[in-house]
Amino acid sequence: MKKVHIKSYGCQMNVYDGQRMADVLGQEGYVETATPDDADLILLNTCHIRERAAHKVYTELGKLRDLKRERKADGRETTLVVAGCVAQAEGAEIQRRQPAVDLVIGPQTYHRLPELLAQAKSGRIVDTDLPPEDKFDHLPAPKLAAIVARGVSAFVTVQEGCDKFCAFCVVPYTRGAEFSRPVAQVIAEVERLAQAGVQDVSLLGQNVNAYHGDGPDGRVWTLARLMRRIAEVPGVARIRYTTSHPRDMDEDLIALHRELPQAMPFLHLPVQAGSDRILAAMNRKHTGDEYRRLIDKIRAARPDIALSSDFIVGFPGESDADFEETLRLIADVRFASAYSFKYSPRPGTPAAELSEQVPPTVMDERLYRLQTLVEQHRQEFNHAMVGRTVEILIERNGRHSGQLAGKTPYMQAVQIESAAHRIGDRVMVQIERAGSNSLFGRAVEQPGLAA
Ligand code: SAM
Ligand code: SF4
Repeated sequence: MKKVHIKSYGCQMNVYDGQRMADVLGQEGYVETATPDDADLILLNTCHIRERAAHKVYTELGKLRDLKRERKADGRETTLVVAGCVAQAEGAEIQRRQPAVDLVIGPQTYHRLPELLAQAKSGRIVDTDLPPEDKFDHLPAPKLAAIVARGVSAFVTVQEGCDKFCAFCVVPYTRGAEFSRPVAQVIAEVERLAQAGVQDVSLLGQNVNAYHGDGPDGRVWTLARLMRRIAEVPGVARIRYTTSHPRDMDEDLIALHRELPQAMPFLHLPVQAGSDRILAAMNRKHTGDEYRRLIDKIRAARPDIALSSDFIVGFPGESDADFEETLRLIADVRFASAYSFKYSPRPGTPAAELSEQVPPTVMDERLYRLQTLVEQHRQEFNHAMVGRTVEILIERNGRHSGQLAGKTPYMQAVQIESAAHRIGDRVMVQIERAGSNSLFGRAVEQPGLAA
């Protein structure tokens, strides 16, 4: 039996891509293994978003080259593949820096893995074609057993690529132009997931709310329309979508949060910064106040919605006053959670050419202040759950026997003690305590979502 070890870095789309590569290789007789040590095929599914993420790949490749050598000395061959966004951005350079790599494959060509692996046997190969249409047409449906093993929550990529060209971001270059999968293809995938017990579906896209897929009626469907259709798939209880751009948050999508019970009250809506000057330099095409007004509208539609965001500190030219504007926006919106990053200049992006780069020590201090404020709000949001009864979808066993772990509609992790429930149950839980990363509660009888 051939074994493959897949290591995915970065975003949720890479996790999804890793699973789909496992599906493709499963058809070729490969089974997944959790460690590289006993793998015949090792695949690094890489991330290029920040310098540190890209750098990690080369460190890892150095270790894998040694492993490959040791295995060869024992008479066993190992194939080393680099996939994902570093592969797309750096192509043949990867094999120049690390000759042990047999195959470099971009995010849009992994449906061709079997044929490329065969070619790689007789020489090193690079394939970084961009259009994604082919990939989705050729990917095999995952086996039901594979879906069951991945759990009751699943990702489905519905949109890929980006036409927004934020000044700091490599995505439009690594993932290509915006592309939406046709509605029928998405529905078929969701139906298959639901058949295998998936209840919580997260629709993925670099710009997921720009979705504009061909509908079965010959019209172009929006994300809101797609979500309404997905809600009709038996078994799908929860629908989420990520990542959205503020400019593409249309009225219909906002109304959906009021109208569709399956639309979860959680929205990741990156704003990146609070200063209008920096937002303009980033090419985000909205102001801080436009973002605030959008949040007001979303909260009017769904008052209990939990909001999350991404922030970049130290974008070139960001002054102390600009940064204070970011803190002011955070204080106004009070996010339930957020990801925050120090600006990292990326080759080929317009911001990397800007002269006024912010010193690392200033970035460190800003990041610390921002994260302290966000953490305060996150803790307040979690503590406000104590005493409330919410529906938990149980996703896995907890650390101790008798303990189960699940998620609230707001994406919070919850632990309960219960011998009566199992993975896949949706159970009403009264929250009794908020820890720093998890809530703790007990199952109660009453049905329906209580607030
Ligand atoms: N499409 C999403 C959006 O519109 O915000 C996010 C895409 S990106 C994969 C995820 C996050 O990485 C971004 O929201 C941004 O905060 C961060 N990011 C992207 N480029 C970056 C850079 N050059 N330096 C630091 N952080 C970066
Ligand atoms: Fe990158 Fe998101 Fe901006 Fe597109 S919208 S360029 S993915 S940050």
